[in-house]
This record gives sequence, C-alpha cells and structure tokens, in this order.
Amino acid sequence: MRSTTTLSLAFSLSLTLSFATAGCGTSTPAAVAATTDSGTTTDSGTTTTDGGAATGELTLDTCGTNIAATAPEFFKRFFRCVTITTTTTSVVISTNALPPHRSYYYGSGHANYEDFDTTRGATYRPAPNRLAMKAMAFTVPIAPVSRNLTITSAMVDGTVGSNTNEYPMGAAGVALDSVVLYNPLARPGDDIEAEKYTFDVYNAHPSPDSVYHYHTTSKGPLEVLKKLGFVTTTEPGGAAIELYGIMCDGTPVLGCKELDATSPTGTLDAQGGHAHDLKSGDGTVLLAGRYHTHICTATGRKFTPEIQYYSSCTR
Ligand SMILES: [Zn+2]
Ligand SMILES: [Zn+2]
Repeated sequence: MRSTTTLSLAFSLSLTLSFATAGCGTSTPAAVAATTDSGTTTDSGTTTTDGGAATGELTLDTCGTNIAATAPEFFKRFFRCVTITTTTTSVVISTNALPPHRSYYYGSGHANYEDFDTTRGATYRPAPNRLAMKAMAFTVPIAPVSRNLTITSAMVDGTVGSNTNEYPMGAAGVALDSVVLYNPLARPGDDIEAEKYTFDVYNAHPSPDSVYHYHTTSKGPLEVLKKLGFVTTTEPGGAAIELYGIMCDGTPVLGCKELDATSPTGTLDAQGGHAHDLKSGDGTVLLAGRYHTHICTATGRKFTPEIQYYSSCTR
C-alpha cells in the first residue's frame, strides 16, 4: 500500500534526471569520484520514494502498474511496474527505475538488499555505486520510422561515438520489469566486457549517477513473464519465450526465442537484429514488421543493440 502511494507521488514529480552525464562506467576511479550516491544506502537526495525508507520489499506484487487501456496490446501484455499513457503517435512509459527484485546495489539495510554473489569467481566484485530512484519517461513511437540502415559489423564496434546512429549513452530503453536498458557501450576508457564483472545476479549495476540498468539479458524481465504465465523458467536462453524490453526508438529486445516461442529464422544482422511481424503464440500480430534484436549466446549477440534502427529516441 505504502509503495503504491509513494510511486504515484513520484510520477507526479517533474522529471529531474539529467542524462548529460549518464554514461555507464562503474569500474574506474573517475567513476567513483563522479558518483553522487556512493555512500551507503539509496536516494539520499531525492524527495519521496523508495529506498532508504525501507518500508517493505519492492516486488512484482508491490511495485504498482498503471497502463492505459489505449496502449497497444504489446505493452499491456508484457510490461509491469511502470505507468504507460498514450498520445496519438506514441506510448509514454514512465518508470522509477527501481528493480522489483533484490540487489546488492540497494545498499545494506534496504529491504531489497542482498549480499554480492561472490560464488561466480574472484573477477566479480561490486562497483562502488548504489542505485537510487530515478523518475524518467520514454516516449516510444507507435509507428517508428526506419533509418533504412543495413547494420554491419563495422558499425557494431563497441566504441562510443564511432557512428552517428548509435543509441545515446545513459537510459536508452526500459525493460519489462521497469529497469532501464542501456546500450552496450561503456564510457570511453572503460570496457563493457570488464564492467560485466560488477553485475549483480540480475546482470545489472548502477551508473555513476545511480541509475540501475541492464546491458544484456536478465532473469528480471523473465520473472515478469513467469508471473504472467508465459514461461516456467527465468533462466536467460532457456525460457519458452524471451522478451526483455524495448529501446527508446521502438526496437524490442528479445532473447533466443521469438514471441511465439519459435526460434529466429533468416539472417540476423551484426547486432542480432531483423524485422518481421512479432506474433504471440495464437498468431496475433502484436507489432507488425518490427525490427528487433535477439540477445542469445548461441547466435553470438551478447548485449543490447548498439545502433538505433529507428529515427527517434525521446527520453
Ligand atoms: Zn552499465
Ligand atoms: Zn526475430
């Protein structure tokens, strides 16, 4: 009850998050210095919700979901812990960017805190940052306009600023469980392959400005699908269907399976992408002719898309 109240309060606040310095980067001394919230628990500077109050654990049952009836079925069916409204041309997804699951990055003392999992090997070690509530909104076009790109390996090079069609740094999409999606690019001087060792068991970590985010698959979104009855396992790569979220331009991010539980067919581009109707198991077309990417170890793509296929990213 308490969390529902505080969430709606937060949504009414003006969006104050600045994306200007929202690059990733959690492993360098510079990142530590830039951290606004490097102390102990969470969101010390914000006005209302979540974190330090520790009024109870934030879960898929307590997070609060509010989706307009006018939203396309794709959003109504799969997204939770967000508020979704629509305009004539867009779906506006608002989130507090707080994971509805446990994480080391909530900070000790928080109801959602758990110890960092060190059983994965000595290379895994926590970043100094902590997560915080970050109210933000993504305006995703209902009918995104293609940039008509043929996405090649030369474009998908993992280097920030090498291509004008890269997703912006910072928050670039939202997952089914309201967690933010980032592109796969680490800040200059950092390396995403090295940063992954700071991921918690949900394959996530907070940015220097405390935005908790995914760069890859996670059991978090799959827990939403399980709760909704679409899958029985939350292991990435092994679920009957795998959908993680949607990028700001309207590009859905899937795993090894399509939305109808079939395996992807045809040629995938250099970031695991292709365009076709995204259909549910009963054949209903949820998104027609939509470009999307598949994160799947078996097909070689490990991270979220780097190149923005559609023209607009508004956040
Ligand atoms: Zn990151
Ligand atoms: Zn596909």
